[in-house]
Amino acid sequence: MLGAPGAGKGTQARFLSATLGVPMVASGDLLREHRQRGTDLGRAAQEFMDRGDLVPDEVVVDMIVHRLDAPDAIAGVLLDGFPRNAAQADALEARLTERGGAIRVAVYVDVPTSVLVERLAGRWMCRGCQASFHELFHPPAIASACDTCGGELYQRADDKREVVTNRVAVYLRDTLPVVARYERQGILRRIDGNQSIDVVKQALREAVSVEEAISV
Ligand code: ADP
Ligand code: ADP
Ligand code: ZN
Repeated sequence: MLGAPGAGKGTQARFLSATLGVPMVASGDLLREHRQRGTDLGRAAQEFMDRGDLVPDEVVVDMIVHRLDAPDAIAGVLLDGFPRNAAQADALEARLTERGGAIRVAVYVDVPTSVLVERLAGRWMCRGCQASFHELFHPPAIASACDTCGGELYQRADDKREVVTNRVAVYLRDTLPVVARYERQGILRRIDGNQSIDVVKQALREAVSVEEAISV
């Protein structure tokens, strides 16, 4: 699942992973969990995340590859937020090839930059399960509590306007080339992400079938 910061990847990955019956593996969620637990990895990632820069590739690649070894990942996973640059895409391809696997489908959730800023400015995230809400576009049923787990909602420090500007610049420079690569490989599906959450959800269901995405 590819897209700019705020494109709706996390929101949609939750639905799509349930449809496909495979776990969602989100590099940003895993990194935030490490920070919450105060691990070495979390401490190493901190300064990069706070600036909106990418965390060094070795750290992120090892973390993801380790996650792919978990028993629940045997039939595949839905990756969200990884790979985010050419080196990560190379590393992922190499590791998947070793295991006889491959990237089956890449989905690009396309949203204009002006819309990203207002989405991130109003985003509230759950401390418990990392589900995201929006104060206007997707408010929780009970103010400041997560619909799914009842966890406390907070605003991410890196959703501040100054940091968002850098995150978008990093995405344009480092991540768009990955989108272009999957397009050349013929595995890219583009989805118009500038529609309501339900309409995007439906478009994704139509664009990605279980048979082509999951090895059985
Ligand atoms: P977004 O809302 O931009 O999709 P994420 O939760 O995916 O945010 O990422 C938050 C931060 O975590 C990024 O700005 C970056 O610092 C770090 N991060 C997440 N995924 C990666 C990755 N694949 N490579 C390097 N850094 C990452
Ligand atoms: P990403 O993981 O790509 O950074 P999120 O899924 O966290 O993005 O969504 C960013 C923000 O935009 C959240 O506040 C979310 O509730 C909201 N959002 C997600 N999809 C839509 C949509 N289709 N329309 C309006 N707001 C959306
Ligand atoms: Zn929650």
